[in-house]
Amino acid sequence: MAANLNSNVLIIGGGQAGFQTAHTLRAKGHVGPIQIIGDEPHLPYQRPPLSKAFLAGELNVERLFFRPATYYEQQNIDIKLGVSVESLCRTSKTVRTTDGTTLAYDVLVLATGARVRPLPDGICTKPEQLLYLRGIDDVQRLLAASTTKNSFLIIGGGFIGLEAAATLKKLGKTVVVAEFQPMVIPGLVAPELSQYLENLHRNMGVDVRTNTNATHVRSQADNGFDIGFGFDIGFADGIRLNVDAVLVGIGVLPNVEFGQAAGLKTDRGFCVDAQARTNDPNIFAVGDCAHGQNTWVSTPIHLESVQNAIDQASIAAQAILGSDKEYAAVPWFWSDQYHVKIQMAGLITDYDQTVVTGEPDDDKFSIFYFQNDQLIAVHTANHPVNHMAARRILAQAEPVTFADCTKHGFDGKALMNITK
Ligand SMILES: Cc1cc2nc3c(=O)[nH]c(=O)nc-3n(C[C@H](O)[C@H](O)[C@H](O)COP(=O)(O)OP(=O)(O)OC[C@H]3O[C@@H](n4cnc5c(N)ncnc54)[C@H](O)[C@@H]3O)c2cc1C
Repeated sequence: MAANLNSNVLIIGGGQAGFQTAHTLRAKGHVGPIQIIGDEPHLPYQRPPLSKAFLAGELNVERLFFRPATYYEQQNIDIKLGVSVESLCRTSKTVRTTDGTTLAYDVLVLATGARVRPLPDGICTKPEQLLYLRGIDDVQRLLAASTTKNSFLIIGGGFIGLEAAATLKKLGKTVVVAEFQPMVIPGLVAPELSQYLENLHRNMGVDVRTNTNATHVRSQADNGFDIGFGFDIGFADGIRLNVDAVLVGIGVLPNVEFGQAAGLKTDRGFCVDAQARTNDPNIFAVGDCAHGQNTWVSTPIHLESVQNAIDQASIAAQAILGSDKEYAAVPWFWSDQYHVKIQMAGLITDYDQTVVTGEPDDDKFSIFYFQNDQLIAVHTANHPVNHMAARRILAQAEPVTFADCTKHGFDGKALMNITK
């Protein structure tokens, strides 16, 4: 696409990636109109604190916003909130919103993120009473519940479920985590890290149950959430449990439907190239709603992280401005649970060897992952030095090998100084 600083850019979704696209466009000199359409009633905000400090009541809502309302006025970014886009016409280059407006674009950026995956139909007798954790409104509902309810079942032992468990525990609640797979954070970390997290939560008083599947979640309420009396839970192995509230954290579904209906290709999100462009050259997709090329890996990937939302959106904005820069960032992610910061750099798909350094018992250790003798990822607990080093090492063109790591004692700082 030829550079056009005057093009009319329409961004759908006012989350991390939508905000970053608009911000980068203006910062890099785009002078044409920029409009953000977001279906939430809030200014663009960061989600990570939702399961951490914000849920703990340690952060007020203003601190979540990337920028105050004045920023959008000053930057001449038109932001329309509480409005959803329901259809796209690629021929006329327009979208239609739920308030009946038709909006035209030269360049469209889809930054629609993802929504929570609901508990499958038929399991819960009153699905409207279930709690989820994706947006500010969900947390406010959860906080309201936490003022009157004392025991929580969290269905799903992924990052969101475990972070919520840690925070609810901090609030003095009784917490049970039920994970369907044999270990928590299934598939995303080595068994050593899963086991460590399971032990950590158990030591903090959370009842972590793996290999367990809730088959029914019966509401004991006779009327509505506010006067609910809790739930009777049945598991596949016959075990029963009574809790006051149920939080479901079983993953997310990318918001792709209106784009898909308009003929955009999808996989685990809109299929995009290394500049975040979809199969329509005038339409980009960024963040949690995208699935695509990151030249750091050989196959298209889908990532759900702040790093991905920021880096991919920045690349898309630069492509709109005529740059040929490609998305090539080392993926990284973090999670805070109690006093432990887990940080992950790289991807662990198809690893065949791991080395653990440090002491899980001291809550400070690192896991180095290898594939065919090459370092592909490093996960750390309370070891920011190794994490930062890993991000630098993994970004190098020449791979660091198992032999390099052995020679340098699996020490991040030493490995960073290898010159090849
Ligand atoms: C509780 C929680 C904790 C997290 N913690 C971490 C963490 O510690 N570290 C980390 O790296 N990542 C974390 N993440 C993930 C990270 O926040 C996401 O990957 C990131 O927010 C993705 O940004 P996004 O802009 O792609 O999507 P979103 O932030 O989901 O934004 C998309 C926006 O588009 C809106 N939208 C959707 N469809 C439409 C439509 N048709 N019309 C208008 N608007 C629409 C959505 O409502 C939403 O507001 C966390 C996520 C959650 C929910």
